[in-house]
Amino acid sequence: MPRPPVEKSHHINFWYITAAMFAVLMFQSLYQASTKPGPIPYSRFQALLVGDRIAEINISANLITGTLKTAEPDGLKEFVTTRVDSDLAASLDKHGVTYTGVVASTWLRDVLSWIVPVAMFAGIWFFMIRGMGQGGIGGGMMSVGKSRAKIYVDTDTKITFADVAGVDEAKAELVEIVNFLKDPKSYGRLGGRSPKGVLLIGPPGTGKTLLARAVAGEASVPFFSITGSEFVEMFVGVGAARVRDLFTQAREHAPAIIFIDELDSLGRARGSSGFSGANDEKEQTLNQLLAELDGFDASSGLVLLAATNRPEILDPALLRAGRFDRQVLVDRPDRAGRVQILALHLKKAKLGADVDPEQIAALTPGFTGADLANLVNEATLLATRRNADAVAMDDFNNAVERIVAGLEKRNRLINPMERRIVAYHELGHAFVSLALPGTDVVHKVSIIPHGVGALGYTIQRPTEDRYLMTRTELDSKMAALLGGRAAEILVFEDVSTGASDDLARVTDIARAMVLQYGMSDALGNVSYDRDRTPFLQTEMKMPQERSYGDRTADAVDAAVRALVDTALARAVAILRVNRVLLDRAATSLLETETLGRDAIEVLRKEIVKA
Ligand code: ADP
Ligand code: MG
Ligand code: ZN
Repeated sequence: MPRPPVEKSHHINFWYITAAMFAVLMFQSLYQASTKPGPIPYSRFQALLVGDRIAEINISANLITGTLKTAEPDGLKEFVTTRVDSDLAASLDKHGVTYTGVVASTWLRDVLSWIVPVAMFAGIWFFMIRGMGQGGIGGGMMSVGKSRAKIYVDTDTKITFADVAGVDEAKAELVEIVNFLKDPKSYGRLGGRSPKGVLLIGPPGTGKTLLARAVAGEASVPFFSITGSEFVEMFVGVGAARVRDLFTQAREHAPAIIFIDELDSLGRARGSSGFSGANDEKEQTLNQLLAELDGFDASSGLVLLAATNRPEILDPALLRAGRFDRQVLVDRPDRAGRVQILALHLKKAKLGADVDPEQIAALTPGFTGADLANLVNEATLLATRRNADAVAMDDFNNAVERIVAGLEKRNRLINPMERRIVAYHELGHAFVSLALPGTDVVHKVSIIPHGVGALGYTIQRPTEDRYLMTRTELDSKMAALLGGRAAEILVFEDVSTGASDDLARVTDIARAMVLQYGMSDALGNVSYDRDRTPFLQTEMKMPQERSYGDRTADAVDAAVRALVDTALARAVAILRVNRVLLDRAATSLLETETLGRDAIEVLRKEIVKA
């Protein structure tokens, strides 16, 4: 859809300013020149002097300028004449010669003496800019004055929630935003306010951009969109100015949506990209964005949406409460979701009778919405190539094979055996959590490959407050973290590399319990390691020199091991007791790829508690 650039009501261009400055200066010089008194003959000056007509004079090395008491009949009031040596003047007068000094006009020389260099600089600059523009660096420096033109607005995106399928959770979160935009006044009636910023997080191609446009379409409000990478400019201050413009314009059109796509390229954590000069610029832009977010009145009818597929590199300041205070996960669709997405995209194709969306969905675990749209397109192309009058199931099978080969290269799909291991591993965590008191609530179990970092999308707000945890809670937490490995041991009698992150976290907890919290029976209530960063904090500190001897170090290691071994044994025991339920849940998870809140509720009721 073509997006018309926003009209600019008061476009301030650098070149206009320059031209205006030149015009004023030229005018001023001409004016001065025209009002300058004309030179008069020295003899006339003498006549005026003798006739008592002169009120006052200024004498310089070469010139005499002066004013008359009253204007002469020819309009002369002010005059300038050349100073003439008095002896020479006397002898000239004797012979009746009329003599006039030539007054050199200097204004043109004065003006030229600085216009020429300025014009030369301007010329050099202009050609530099042109060269850069052609070099394609972010539109070149000429975009300085054009920042407003790059913001695009759609007053009617014509995309609705019906065009986005398989991401029901994300949609449900966004419905509230739509309601707010439709009626900001009555929404704020009871003092409630909409979230300031909503951040859509998910792998590429899951429909984040589509969802943002759908929100605008549903609420039928203007949609101001800009892509984070467009902010990366070469002039310091331009990015910041652009952010300001974006918000100013949106405010004029409120209620409206501001959408910043690819927020990561703009909101990268400060000080994380080395010592380049571009850093300052990014920092300024980010600071401006933070300032706009803070000065952003939620009741103004503006909603800020942003999307990213790399939440882990965002500056933590962006995620703090009151800024992007709501994060919406737009994950890869599960099997049911893929059926819905396929249904949408298959509408446009002419299908043979044997095409079954359910079957295609079963073939495509890990596909995103964009992958599925691509799949339908590929299948259609294959059918066209063999001159068929409809797209057959075989075309889809062939297209899946092609696309899967590409995706496997990018490590986004897993084979059936890996799926089974992942399913049992994840259920292991869930089961132990459900069976033990004091563990985190399980909301969802998923075997959809995440592909973005090993941790998937566990977004954590920076925790300013620390928690107090009891020994029982820490023991349960360790058991739950080891649930994945316990399930692998129990079911496959083998272990995989998938638990490395779990093990690292368990070890951190166990070490902290022994060294800091005095929770080891063998070592007692002694704090061995006061300066170490507590495990609840993510920030890394330099390793400290340890404050105890070798013998104690051995004892510490043994105590840590004992804690971990006990936790693992507990986890295995829980899973062994619940083995039948575990197998049933695994079958169902492999089939549907996710277990939602309802399925987990059922498990919670049936599970044998420890
Ligand atoms: P993202 O911004 O998350 O990278 P896009 O919104 O740009 O993904 O999606 C690209 C295209 O893929 C969309 O235009 C649409 O055709 C298709 N698509 C992606 N997700 C979905 C979905 N959930 N439902 C329907 N189509 C989708
Ligand atoms: Mg996008
Ligand atoms: Zn795990």
